[in-house]
Amino acid sequence: MSGVFADLVGQGEAVDVLRRAAADAAAVLRAGRPDLAAQTDSADPPPTSGGDAAPISGGDPDPAPGGDSAPAAGSDPGQAGAAEPAEREPGAGMTHAWIFTGPPGSGRSVAARAFAAALQCEDGSGCGTCAGCHTTMAGTHADVRLVVPEGLSIGVNEMRALVLRAASTPSGGRWQVVVIEDADRLTEAAGNALLKAVEEPPPRTVFLLCAPSIHPDDISVTIRSRCRVVPLRQPAPAAVAEVLVRRDGVEPDVADWAAAAAQGHVGRARRLARDPQARTRREAVLAVPRQLTGVGAAIDAAAALIGAAEAEAAALVADTDAAERAALETALGAGGTGRRAASAFRGAAGQVKELERRQKSRATRAQRDALDRALVDLAGFYRDALTMALDAPVEPVHTDTAAVAEAGARKWDADGALRRLEAVLACRAAIEANVKPRIAVEAMMLALWKG
Ligand SMILES: [Zn+2]
Repeated sequence: MSGVFADLVGQGEAVDVLRRAAADAAAVLRAGRPDLAAQTDSADPPPTSGGDAAPISGGDPDPAPGGDSAPAAGSDPGQAGAAEPAEREPGAGMTHAWIFTGPPGSGRSVAARAFAAALQCEDGSGCGTCAGCHTTMAGTHADVRLVVPEGLSIGVNEMRALVLRAASTPSGGRWQVVVIEDADRLTEAAGNALLKAVEEPPPRTVFLLCAPSIHPDDISVTIRSRCRVVPLRQPAPAAVAEVLVRRDGVEPDVADWAAAAAQGHVGRARRLARDPQARTRREAVLAVPRQLTGVGAAIDAAAALIGAAEAEAAALVADTDAAERAALETALGAGGTGRRAASAFRGAAGQVKELERRQKSRATRAQRDALDRALVDLAGFYRDALTMALDAPVEPVHTDTAAVAEAGARKWDADGALRRLEAVLACRAAIEANVKPRIAVEAMMLALWKG
């Protein structure tokens, strides 16, 4: 695969959808249609406000330069009820709001950026070489705005300003594209500001949101209902290894090992291939099955696993926390005088509190993520033991602990290996459901020991 979608690893179906959408978007431009209002997702209800199906543009409603005079938007009502893209009129593969979801490491933001580039591509293919593709991928395209919340959430003022700018006529004559990474970190007020824009889309504006899932915790139901969802899947190890070699210059045998060990997480595979600390942490996790010799050892192993996750998370967030704190202190007054500084100070206590709240929630999230990575590694080990007990003709996830897994397979049989694998998966599910990690992990370790 070449062009802007080349780094989207193992996502053939999503890439097909996005290519078709970009081609349809180009067709809309060529036809000089005024907007995309008729192409909201088929499952979505029509806008409820005022019963007016036509978009109410907050910005300049002029169509792109060069377009022949198009009929009014109201001339094609009822398209919202169309079913499959193939059955719709030309251009219907495109819509003005998208959500990219998928497991961590599947490439949500990579997909959103690539799609943004394809929308700005001169021939609508995402060729990767034209000025539109190139400047978008480089982050310098005038009509592509990228929002990457760095810890602090996207606040309502920032979102309002963004929405306002996004409503203007694209300077390049194609689309105004707004990419919001981690859309699950919008404040409620910012989410409402975004919702207004998504409900009443400016004629040439496209919103691309990235979120872990479409669960209401991640994205509000109302925003989701206005968006088309592009689910990304866990890529195959061979596809991950290929990109590590091609893009990151990793040696092929290391890439194969890391891709298998990372079980489809592209970023995790890259870290395992290049970061010795990540390898050390993984080895400590994979030593657990050999350490479970009794109740005391199981409890100790649980404490060690949680301690390691906390330490890893603390190291991950420490730099960002300090930088945010410093940035906020600067913004709140260091060197500031006059009316602006005074009014900034009035909101200071609230902002500091908000920052602390966010940092705490991010630390918790980082701990859960680190613990989950460890559990995924552990699950891989028992999965290896299970496949060996069954003589299944598949490659092990962890080639370096294959001998230990083989010994486990002989000792436990398939039943025992499956019970242990299920104990690890049950632990993940329990933590996801907000069971205290220590309780869930201790229960898992005891189950792994007893079998
Ligand atoms: Zn191009």
